[in-house]
Formats: sequence, C-alpha cells, structure tokens
Amino acid sequence: MAKHRGTDYEGKRDFTRTTEPKPTDKASGKTGKPLFVIQKHDASTLHYDFRLEIDDTLKSWAIPKGPSTDPRQKRLAIPTEDHPMAYGDYEGVIPEGQYGAGTVMLWDQGEYENIKKVKGTLMPMAACYEQGQIEINLKGKKIQGGYALVRTKGISKGAENWLLIKMKDKYADARRNPVNTENDSVKTGKSLRQIQHTAKK
Ligand code: MN
Repeated sequence: MAKHRGTDYEGKRDFTRTTEPKPTDKASGKTGKPLFVIQKHDASTLHYDFRLEIDDTLKSWAIPKGPSTDPRQKRLAIPTEDHPMAYGDYEGVIPEGQYGAGTVMLWDQGEYENIKKVKGTLMPMAACYEQGQIEINLKGKKIQGGYALVRTKGISKGAENWLLIKMKDKYADARRNPVNTENDSVKTGKSLRQIQHTAKK
C-alpha cells in the first residue's frame, strides 16, 4: 500500500502564519509535462527538498547533501509529506515557530520524463513510487539527465530511506558540484540571504 501523506501537509501548518501555499492554491505555469523541483531549505539544518509530480501531487524527499552529478555519490533521500502542486513555485521565508521555519529557495526546477521500463514497457510513475524504483530524466537548469531514486531499508526497523543516484550518461560529471558552486535561485536569481532580506521589507 502506498503511504498517503497528503493530509500531513495541512496538519503540520498554520496558514494564518506560514507564507507557504495552501493545499487548495492553484499551481501556476503548468505545461502539462510532469514537474520536478529542488528547493534549498535553510531550516534548523540546511537541506535540499526534492519533489516529483506524481498524480497531481508533489511527492517529496529531504536530501541532506543535495543532488550530486557524480554517479559514485549516492545521496540519502528521506521521504517527507506530499506537497501541493502550488509548492512547485514557492520561494520565501517560513516564519519562526512554524513547521520548517527558515528560508526556502527555488534552487532548480524543470520537467522530467519517466524512463523506468520493465520488459520494454514504461512503468507508470505511481507504480515506480510504490515499488521504490524510480528512474527519471531531469531537465532542470542545474540538474540534468538520468537519475535513479531507489528505496532501501532504513537504519532503524521500519524506517524507510531512499537513495538518489546519478546515472551514467553525458550529464554525469564528477568534477561539477552544483550544490556548492551554483547557489542562487532559478526563480529570482537571489541568494538565500537576499530572499531573507526581501521577506523582512
Ligand atoms: Mn525542507
């Protein structure tokens, strides 16, 4: 059974206080192609939130070290609650005392393509998610090409972890390290500090 994390989003948040989208907010600029988003989130611990549109919701993982372009670097991805489609364009500051308090940057965004095949046939994304076997081609500004996102056994019993792994293709590059070298928003060009500063005005 797939875990339904959809209601968690609303339950964790006070929409009279947070600047984040409400679950009913409409997503802007939808192209009809499925979307992926990577948000840099300067919360109590800095991390990257990786989100994939599957069946009209954003399935989400927190990636402590962010994505790598090096196929040898497996990045831990911890599943988090589903986010509404409108979150795919969100950038701002979540106020103190609220869930996930801190600055959120839209670090990368783009379309993705499902490339997971079983016996020559594409496996639907919902099935890939349920089986913990996702293979996608990302068309972002910073992150491109094939990535596998696979579920593994967690360290503690019952815990579920995933790994995000760059596939070997022309976009694989062990020398690039976009998490360290490409620090600005793809939405506004702002740094984390500038996003924070704008919110205070
Ligand atoms: Mn986060």
